[in-house]
Amino acid sequence: MSIAFFVLAFALGACVGSFLNVCIARWPVGESVVAPRSRCPRCGAAIAGYDNIPIISWLVLRAKCRGCGLPISAIYPLVELAIAIVWVVSFAEYGPTFMAVRIAIFTTILFGVAATDAKHYLIPDGFTVSGLIFVLAASVAGLYLQSRLPFADPLDALFGACVGAGAITIIGWLGEVVLKKEAMGFGDSTLMAMAGAALGPGRTLLTIFVGALLAAGIFLAVVYPIGWLRARRRGEAFALPLVPFGVFLAPAALLTLLWGYPVMTWYLEHSGL
Ligand SMILES: [Zn+2]
Repeated sequence: MSIAFFVLAFALGACVGSFLNVCIARWPVGESVVAPRSRCPRCGAAIAGYDNIPIISWLVLRAKCRGCGLPISAIYPLVELAIAIVWVVSFAEYGPTFMAVRIAIFTTILFGVAATDAKHYLIPDGFTVSGLIFVLAASVAGLYLQSRLPFADPLDALFGACVGAGAITIIGWLGEVVLKKEAMGFGDSTLMAMAGAALGPGRTLLTIFVGALLAAGIFLAVVYPIGWLRARRRGEAFALPLVPFGVFLAPAALLTLLWGYPVMTWYLEHSGL
């Protein structure tokens, strides 16, 4: 494949990343992602088209708003860069195919889910419900285009969506009984409905298991010790912070989609079952 092809994939990914920035900023506060135009979050000035080119405008403007001169966060170009890399890797792996687009869109949505859950402790329906519709429609299209694995076929997708939403709801309910406070949000259920539709029932349960392992590992090894040390230094009591489970379920869903079947096959061959 030519250089031009990858430049195009990069540019496409950067534009998708730019739109993702808008979704991450607006959906959690209940705003439309279509209108109004992008504005500087500090002075409110509308951003002109030529100042809204992904990555490039941030570099040209030297990270400052043209109107007020106050800094523009590096998060925006970094998200655009990350999603551009996702699209380049996807097209490099699958070529100019339906599958490349399917994997890239699914990964982009999961990225948005993890970002909003980390920032606001919520997962907007904009990602999960439109994601579910996309994943189901793509599973039907995949049948006709002979482009199926690693995604689940339509029947498995429907079954997987139910298993995903059901399992996480039951786990959340059990957590509520044990912890006596809300353990899982409705966003986790819609997230697992979407992920379940992509993965089918078996790998959906594997995703929840991998997500729980990731969450336990990061929180027990990093977040809790740091929080405890900080609280001790300030002489305060340490309150256990909430776990935004979507932050871990999202990468777990991608890992399971890409490597779930190979790992399960390897395990079955080597476990003597
Ligand atoms: Zn400004």
